[in-house]
Amino acid sequence: MASAAAELPAEPAASGGAAIAVANVDVTYGVGGVEPVKALSGINLDIPDGAFVSLVGPSGCGKSTLLKVVADLMAPTRGSVTVGGTPPRNLRHAGRIGLAFQQANLMPWLKVTDNVGLLRDLVARRGGARGAGTSIDELIRVVGLAGFETKYPHQLSGGMQQRVALARALALDPAVLLMDEPFAALDEITRDRMAFELMRLWHLYRKTVLFVTHSLAEAVFLSDRVVLMSTRPGRIHQTFEIDLPRPRDRETRLTDRFHQIVSELNRELYRVMA
Ligand code: ADP
Ligand code: MG
Repeated sequence: MASAAAELPAEPAASGGAAIAVANVDVTYGVGGVEPVKALSGINLDIPDGAFVSLVGPSGCGKSTLLKVVADLMAPTRGSVTVGGTPPRNLRHAGRIGLAFQQANLMPWLKVTDNVGLLRDLVARRGGARGAGTSIDELIRVVGLAGFETKYPHQLSGGMQQRVALARALALDPAVLLMDEPFAALDEITRDRMAFELMRLWHLYRKTVLFVTHSLAEAVFLSDRVVLMSTRPGRIHQTFEIDLPRPRDRETRLTDRFHQIVSELNRELYRVMA
């Protein structure tokens, strides 16, 4: 599993994604109940087609909630969301929303190949076939798992399981890739490698990515833009445009500019938590 920074094209591929627009979104859990919880308030977010955007903020500020609203896993209490100009439900039904969570959620009884192809097959059977250009074998190779096609999840490390989950999401040829702390359960070195891996995949396929992380350095390294949310009810506190040149590599993280941006973010994070 080579670190493939050297293979990165100078410019990312043309976008294969869709823009995300979140307008005036509020989410209140338990509306009408005894103790409703206002999780999000007045969220406005415009993510251009093919951009990589990270959400950071204190625990409980509504990052996962926002991701779920964009994924059409729950409806906002107020406001609207569109992905590629249409409600996310349309894309979800067409199987074009790629999801990744902290747990890889693989089927333990299926081999790598079958886990990667599972969702694509389900979507195809429902009549939503995309006939995406990339074969399952190719995707397995791209995520660095060539040779592991016939292994079962329990035979893989945590990082490898997340690679399978990534390939499974990409097999849908998603318009957007929504990731909620996908590397949080990994050890630091593996996590680091996965960040490079994800960046390489983004360069290759250029999906629109909305990425939740609690690592500010990870967010800065990967993103075009980092959105810092405030404590509950979650609002957007500040947006940081990350002007670090691409392609980025290990050197990027040693530059003064990188440290400067991470420090600025840290300072603001402390401010919203004060
Ligand atoms: P984050 O991902 O930033 O840690 P979440 O989006 O998970 O935050 O949660 C935001 C807030 O909403 C938290 O205060 C959490 O306790 C609350 N919350 C999340 N899910 C539910 C739920 N199903 N019912 C009630 N409250 C919830
Ligand atoms: Mg969360």
